[in-house]
Amino acid sequence: MRTRSIKKPLSILATLFTLSMYPAIPAIRLMSSRPLSPERLEQELYEERQKLSLEGKIIHIRYDPNDEMANGSILAYAQKIDENKYNIVLGKNGLNVGSLRHELYHIADGHFETKNYSLMKYYFILEPQANYYAAFGWKF
Ligand SMILES: [Zn+2]
Repeated sequence: MRTRSIKKPLSILATLFTLSMYPAIPAIRLMSSRPLSPERLEQELYEERQKLSLEGKIIHIRYDPNDEMANGSILAYAQKIDENKYNIVLGKNGLNVGSLRHELYHIADGHFETKNYSLMKYYFILEPQANYYAAFGWKF
């Protein structure tokens, strides 16, 4: 009974914390993120993918400052191109470790494997998870 009475306020606090952090996380991710050099992308990808146990996946990465999607409001993006094959594109403002970690987390956590999920789930669960990992290394 006592545990239950503590759990509820804690879950409310956790939810409030998550919601209050939500707008700040991309900024934290950007500010705390080490810049990458285009020449070292393959090496950085190799090192970061080890942390997420992505050995079975084929992941291509490229820096494209002129990419239409990555050049707009999106810093970077990942896409599934085939079974166990993914592309990551880093735009001119997304050439940093935070963006790389963010996109790798989407792949590692299987966000591309679910065909139909709502925008609510994307914005309030999947994106914050990837942002928390990029900013703090937390895995959910
Ligand atoms: Zn994302």
